Amino acid sequence: MLDINAIRSDFPILRHPVYDKPLIYFDNAATTQKPRCVVEKIENGYYNVNANIHRGVHFLSQAATEAHEDARRTVQHFLNARSSNEIIFTRGTTEAINLVASSFTDECMSANDEVIVSVMEHHSNIVPWQIQAAKKGITLKVIPMNEKGELKLDEYRKLFSDRTRLVSVTHVSNVLGTINPVAEMIEEAHRNGVPVLVDGAQSVPHMAVDVQALDAEFYVFSGHKVYGPTGIGVLYGKEEWLEKLPPYQGGGEMIATVSFEKTTFNELPFKFEAGTPDYIGSTALAEALHYVTRLGMDNIAAYEHELLTYATDKLNAIEGMRIFGQAVDKGAVISFLVGNIHHYDMGMLLDRLGIAVRTGHHCAQPLMQVLGIEGTVRASFSFYNTKEEIDAFVAGVERVRKMF
Ligand code: PMP
Repeated sequence: MLDINAIRSDFPILRHPVYDKPLIYFDNAATTQKPRCVVEKIENGYYNVNANIHRGVHFLSQAATEAHEDARRTVQHFLNARSSNEIIFTRGTTEAINLVASSFTDECMSANDEVIVSVMEHHSNIVPWQIQAAKKGITLKVIPMNEKGELKLDEYRKLFSDRTRLVSVTHVSNVLGTINPVAEMIEEAHRNGVPVLVDGAQSVPHMAVDVQALDAEFYVFSGHKVYGPTGIGVLYGKEEWLEKLPPYQGGGEMIATVSFEKTTFNELPFKFEAGTPDYIGSTALAEALHYVTRLGMDNIAAYEHELLTYATDKLNAIEGMRIFGQAVDKGAVISFLVGNIHHYDMGMLLDRLGIAVRTGHHCAQPLMQVLGIEGTVRASFSFYNTKEEIDAFVAGVERVRKMF
């Protein structure tokens, strides 16, 4: 059981009123708030442990290096990776996918080869592939979904051909909340001899993820969505795959030797970390992962599911309510529209009540096209949210509905 009051006191921002009203923060799928321990870790890093890492002989540089590499081991254990060599720090999910798209396409794909993605991908798992497609003539195949917002696995199976080189799918949809059966999808891909990248931006903050149990070749996530700082994220890759792929960016840190004639590259994980890494961000991310581990990922998942069910039932009682995404297996994200009220108007008016929700296409325009809408209002929950907040939110939605 989680002690929500104690948890809320760890998040100072939740006490800040907006428009003289208590803040109700339901935009957790966009980014999460930071517990005090994460902010203190950043402060402590800059005040006490700041020096550029890896090459320094001096005390501070070695302390900062140790903290950064310790953070890598924390991520390794959090994801249950085999080795810390399999953990690459990136700027976030987007950069991690771009890294794989660029290096994988360079090494493993030629014209007319295919990548399978799903209809519910975030732009960051579509556009990097399209950029590669324009260079190399590869094509995207798209897994469709049913009316509940669940991927059609029978259609997925039919998408494999002898040109399929990679499957790249999201674990949890940031719009529909659907938790995709990625273990089953990875098994199917492996039966076809195809590796898999999983976008874990919306899963890692909300459920236990074990990359060895899933057997994914690549798994990526963003620090800021899991209570860590912005500007840091993770690419997990199986060691044999990371060994095989060429570097993404060139520069310091990622080299072994450089002459004007030839460069040799550093070993893993440094081969993929060109330039000074965000060693303050990595240690603060590790602090965030310790924080959620202390709460327990299974406790988090259970409590957030309770919030989802509670909010869904209450919202469904509102006249004209349309919820997009009714998957049986669903994370704590609710996208909705009410009658003909524009999502933007709903979001603006809720904001005046102190309620922060997101409106628009949520970086998933192709999904919006399939749904036949321009955008939705999205409420997304965290373990620091409460049923009382949901009551106030539902009352707010009802109040807005009556205004139109
Ligand atoms: N994938 C999904 C499913 C997401 O929800 C997001 C963030 N909204 C991203 C990728 C991109 O994450 P970031 O902007 O942190 O790189």
